[in-house]
Amino acid sequence: MTRTDRLRETRPTRTVRTAPKRTALISGAGVAGPALAFWLNRHGFTVTVVEKAGTFRGGGHPVDVRGTALDVVRRMGILPRLRDMHIDLRRLTFLDGDGGEVASVAPHTVTGGVAGRDLEVRRGDLTAALYTTVRDDVEFLFDDSVDTLHQTGHGVDVTFRGGGSRTFDMVFGADGLHSRTRELLFGPEGRFHRYLGYCFAGFTMRNTFGLSHELLMWNTPGRAAALYAVEDEDAVHALLTFTHPEPPSDAFRDPEARRNLVASVFADAGWKVPAMLAALNDADDLFFDTVGQIRMPRWSSGRVALVGDAAYAPSFLTGQGSSLALVGAYMLAGSLADRDHTAGFAAYEHTTREFVTLNQDQVGKGDATLFPTTARALEQRNDMLRDIEATPSAAKGRPAHSALTLPDFTPRP
Ligand SMILES: Cc1cc2nc3c(=O)[nH]c(=O)nc-3n(C[C@H](O)[C@H](O)[C@H](O)COP(=O)(O)OP(=O)(O)OC[C@H]3O[C@@H](n4cnc5c(N)ncnc54)[C@H](O)[C@@H]3O)c2cc1C
Repeated sequence: MTRTDRLRETRPTRTVRTAPKRTALISGAGVAGPALAFWLNRHGFTVTVVEKAGTFRGGGHPVDVRGTALDVVRRMGILPRLRDMHIDLRRLTFLDGDGGEVASVAPHTVTGGVAGRDLEVRRGDLTAALYTTVRDDVEFLFDDSVDTLHQTGHGVDVTFRGGGSRTFDMVFGADGLHSRTRELLFGPEGRFHRYLGYCFAGFTMRNTFGLSHELLMWNTPGRAAALYAVEDEDAVHALLTFTHPEPPSDAFRDPEARRNLVASVFADAGWKVPAMLAALNDADDLFFDTVGQIRMPRWSSGRVALVGDAAYAPSFLTGQGSSLALVGAYMLAGSLADRDHTAGFAAYEHTTREFVTLNQDQVGKGDATLFPTTARALEQRNDMLRDIEATPSAAKGRPAHSALTLPDFTPRP
């Protein structure tokens, strides 16, 4: 062995190697998916997003972005764009069973939001803004979904419904409340779904009511009908919500059973409800679901982690679904910036779970206001609304919405 050989054996070579980029697959291009894609890309990952829908759907129901989540969209550079899309909801008017006005209040006084700071945008506008920000840096596969996941010591082997298979360093489930990734990883949804005792039917209908920038909410005990006019548009968002002791399994299997159930619950209702039921019959965008939360003891297993509604849907009663999805995406990607998947996923849970739980626990505060279930609860709610109307105060926002201060994550060199 020559001296040079010996030196080669004992000294490290000085060749500088850059670590290969880690690869990530994200299932779902709603709110959490594109936000996670943005931040993983920033932290040096090569990202693919697979979405079962063929394309983006614009419009959709309005969602809120509040508190800590505002800092996420600011750091992504899309806050000004979202401000332009802000729905300026001016009045929230509560009605009794006969359609008589109970109270008309500024929306933030009951939602816990902060007027002038919080955002309310159409869900489709939010997802489009997120998508536009990342589409040039990330691979999107539309009209496809994950069929199987198989974890090995060095990656996750994925097969796709559309055919083909690939291996990724990590996989993320951002596929919403009824997440298939969660099912593949942790088992049936029933283990984690906490039914909150309500069902709802959402759809759009013609705005024959002359409504503009306002929400009308009709209540009788255990039933609510809402008409939400986002702008001076031809269409309004209609929402029929009702208590139901158990999740109605028939209604999920059969669209006809769904319409029949809603029609029977609201059969004797007054106000605009008969017109809403007629519109529901013809609606081609009917969205029927139970109101529930996802509560999981762990959000990851091996090289696969969940984010957004897939991991911790808070239900629309909290109005925090989009905000949790945005904050969760930021925290998950940041936790992986200088860590491997094991340490990164542990850090994600450690730093984010308290914020998530605090916001999921807000549910008790929303349902009593919007959907009182007994005559007594409805009466108390109406008294409370009349007080608000008489002495409106500047809302400071709920502390839970801002309970996490975003850390600055250092990207891996
Ligand atoms: C009627 C209604 C009103 C709401 N109101 C509010 C509100 O006022 N404020 C608020 O903050 N939130 C509200 N929400 C909730 C909010 O929309 C969600 O919490 C939020 O969008 C969560 O984002 P996400 O990305 O986790 O899930 P989603 O937005 O549900 O996105 C999941 C994505 O995954 C895709 N996907 C599903 N399965 C698969 C699969 N197998 N493979 C590939 N892709 C898949 C879906 O097509 C979708 O694009 C409301 C929800 C509803 C239904």
